Amino acid sequence: MTWLAPVGFRTFCRGIPLADLNGFFTEAGLPAAASGASEDGWAWLAHHAETNPDGGAIQQLGQYITGFRYADRVSDQHNVHMVFLASTPACTCGHSYAVPHCAQHPCQFAYSRGGFAVSLFNLGERRESHRFGSQADLFVRQFLEEGLVGRTTRYDSEPGFNTDGTETVRIIAEHFGLPVGPLRRD
Ligand SMILES: [Zn+2]
Repeated sequence: MTWLAPVGFRTFCRGIPLADLNGFFTEAGLPAAASGASEDGWAWLAHHAETNPDGGAIQQLGQYITGFRYADRVSDQHNVHMVFLASTPACTCGHSYAVPHCAQHPCQFAYSRGGFAVSLFNLGERRESHRFGSQADLFVRQFLEEGLVGRTTRYDSEPGFNTDGTETVRIIAEHFGLPVGPLRRD
C-alpha cells in the first residue's frame, strides 16, 4: 500500500449506509468527490483539498455524525465509527495542542465515536509521539511493536523512515480493517 492518496481527505464510516453518509455531507455543503462501500461494512468518502480546503470541517462533520446531533437519523447510533485521514501536510503551527490551528491542516488521523474524537494524531516523522483524545493511546501497543514510538525507534535507526506516514496509515488501516482502495494514489 502506498500512502498517500491525492492531496485531500478520506472519511471512513461504519454503521451508516453510504447513501445516508453522502447525504449528510452534501446537505452540509461538503459533497464528496468520490465514495464507495466495502463488503464488510465501511462506507467511505473522498474529498479533494483543491475543492474542499477546509479539512477541519470535514473531520468535524464526520465526528458529529457519530454523536447525539444525528441520533434521530442513524438507526444504530452505538455502533457508528468514523475514521478520518488527511493527506494534507501536518500543521507546522505547533504539535503540542490537540486543537488544529488552521482549517487547511486538520489532524491527519482522527477516530471518533459518540460525537467525540477518541484518538487523534499526525502521521510520520515522529508525530505519533503526540497523541490526543479520550483514548489517545489506542495505537500505542502497535506503535511500540513497529518501532514508531519508544526508547529507541526506527526513526533513530533508519534514515528517512516513515517520512510520509505510510507505515502509520498501514497500521491504522489494518487495525480498523479499512478498504485500501481509497488509500491508494489513483
Ligand atoms: Zn497550519
